[in-house]
Amino acid sequence: MDKIISLCKRRGFIFPGSEIYGGMANSWDYGPLGVELKNNIKKEWWRRFVQGRPDVVGIDTALIMNPKVWEASGHVSNFSDPLVECKKCHQRFRADHVDGKKCPECEGALTDPRQFNMMFKTFIGPAEDQANTAYFRPETAQGMFVNFKNVLDTSRKRLPFGIAQIGKAFRNEITPGNYIFRTREFEQMEIEYFIPQPEKDEDWEKYFNMWLDEMKQWLRDLGVSDKKLHYKDIPDGERAHYSKRTVDVEYDFPFGQRELYGLAYRADFDLKNHSEYSNADLQYTDPETGKKYLPHVIEPTWGVDRSLLVAILEAYHEDNAPTSDKGETETRVVLKFPKWLAPVKVAILPLSKKDELSGEAKKLFEDLSKNFVCEYDETQSIGKRYRRQDEIGTPYCVTVDFDSLEDKKVTVRDRDTMEQERISIDELKEYLREKINS
Ligand SMILES: [Zn+2]
Repeated sequence: MDKIISLCKRRGFIFPGSEIYGGMANSWDYGPLGVELKNNIKKEWWRRFVQGRPDVVGIDTALIMNPKVWEASGHVSNFSDPLVECKKCHQRFRADHVDGKKCPECEGALTDPRQFNMMFKTFIGPAEDQANTAYFRPETAQGMFVNFKNVLDTSRKRLPFGIAQIGKAFRNEITPGNYIFRTREFEQMEIEYFIPQPEKDEDWEKYFNMWLDEMKQWLRDLGVSDKKLHYKDIPDGERAHYSKRTVDVEYDFPFGQRELYGLAYRADFDLKNHSEYSNADLQYTDPETGKKYLPHVIEPTWGVDRSLLVAILEAYHEDNAPTSDKGETETRVVLKFPKWLAPVKVAILPLSKKDELSGEAKKLFEDLSKNFVCEYDETQSIGKRYRRQDEIGTPYCVTVDFDSLEDKKVTVRDRDTMEQERISIDELKEYLREKINS
């Protein structure tokens, strides 16, 4: 973990939040490469599950919703952890995280456990009172449920169909930690997949298994090795009472086996509650039989930040690379991202800063950056520049040298094999397009 955290800071993937003010506990900011990486994850997810499927549509809903939403969803009454407070230093701890009756910080006496709601509270308008209390959403899911009718009426979808959303959610976690694994604000990619009221278990199981397969394929494409993944069926008694099946997708992080994604069959729990609390008719009318009923729901959820962390952990490699001294090698750090995921696809490196080379290289940058995320770098030795690109996972480096001016060819270096190939400038774009999309 320490190597990853230091690489991410050094190369501009992830910075500690508010760092010049001494930072803020468990707050992280994504830097220039981090935001490219994160956008690649979200773009691919949206392309695959929303634009690539006739049965899923996307929405983007408000972070602060009518507080009644959270009464209906159960978050106002149930979304809490039992906490104890130190009577001396007033720090709070999860009751199940402290041994004995003394404060782990100052040894002061602790109060009895009390329920502490994990939603972030805020106030709408100028008055800070109960009537104006609102909450930052603790999950994206409710945005899909409260818009079920809107989407149904406007998109003319028939069951089964899904509503997808990518967005931030907020939880006032008492014990966040492990880098970007658990933070108080985080991003989710989520689908509520509405299905006909099932008559037998196979009727919902087939959709549940379809989404389980989709999640597995997604993880393979993210470059995650099957050996580090665990699909944990949550047993009876530990699942929410309305759920007939919940699977936690867990991953072997350096700090232990922890949840990465989740998949749950939620029956008609959410639409039923919102019907009751809002008095809106959220039933679906079967176009063939005319029968009215509340659809059931399969809910696959992906964490954006956790996807990014796993992608970096899986991509991180150290191997040996030749140095400029003949026969010598050195350790190189390389992020072997799948090519679609790499934040920078092509680096353009003129061999020298001389005008005739940098002019040609800048022309190449201008042309290639219309199709790929490119980086232009003319500082330091070519060996050091290769290392820098390896470290951020750039699949291809294009070197412009003095021969290029004569033969109109450049050297293309492959990140993984470190092999170099001489390619004609005319054919370069097509060459890179084929390689990067393969
Ligand atoms: Zn204390």
